[in-house]
Amino acid sequence: ESFQDVDMGEIIMGNIALSRYTRPTPVQKYAIPIVKSKRDLMACAQTGSGKTAAFLLPILIKSSSFKEYNGKYGRRKQYPISLVLAPTRELALQIYDEARKFSYRSRVRPCVVYGGADIGQQIRELERGCHLLVATPGRLVDMMERGKIGLDYCKYLVLDEADRMLDMGFEPQIRRIVEQDTMPHKGIRQTMMFSATFPKEIQILARDFLEEYIFLAV
Ligand code: AMP
Repeated sequence: ESFQDVDMGEIIMGNIALSRYTRPTPVQKYAIPIVKSKRDLMACAQTGSGKTAAFLLPILIKSSSFKEYNGKYGRRKQYPISLVLAPTRELALQIYDEARKFSYRSRVRPCVVYGGADIGQQIRELERGCHLLVATPGRLVDMMERGKIGLDYCKYLVLDEADRMLDMGFEPQIRRIVEQDTMPHKGIRQTMMFSATFPKEIQILARDFLEEYIFLAV
């Protein structure tokens, strides 16, 4: 078992080697081929399982093969190809750090936005380009309302720690983001949900956001 088993492209393979990940963890081993095969995924996985790389690696491969959309629309508004929603600033920053590590020397530019920090600085970072956006739900809604983010080309959507986002009361913001008219619909976009638990509320979200998903418990 190694990362060599799935074709990830030279740059990303080099970055995996640089990060000294020698073998995939179980969630990576099972989730990466599922995501690469274009299926939606509901994964029950704990923090520490390696779930971040399990969703980042396949969406980075896909994001890097996408053509540039922002040229057409100018720099003021960004149209990320991938969106990762996370419950807290700490988790968003962790995911962003991992995304930066894996996208090193690639053409994918990751950005992160979260509440409780200067929005002007985050807007300036976005205006430099954003292919993969990591966001907390409230701040993303704010960015959408300010016309800084369009999700029209968001082909890959990840909800990380979905149970925690619901516990924190983010369901209205999440639905506002995912169910807006301009967001590619399920079945057109590819959606991955990660959650430590699988209670009724998460099952409902999975039913609403995922298309014939594969259920993975590790
Ligand atoms: P996560 O569950 O994504 O928060 O990852 C937990 C920790 O495991 C992080 O510090 C990762 O950098 C590390 N990690 C993830 N995947 C691997 C791997 N395949 N080999 C070694 N360390 C890993």
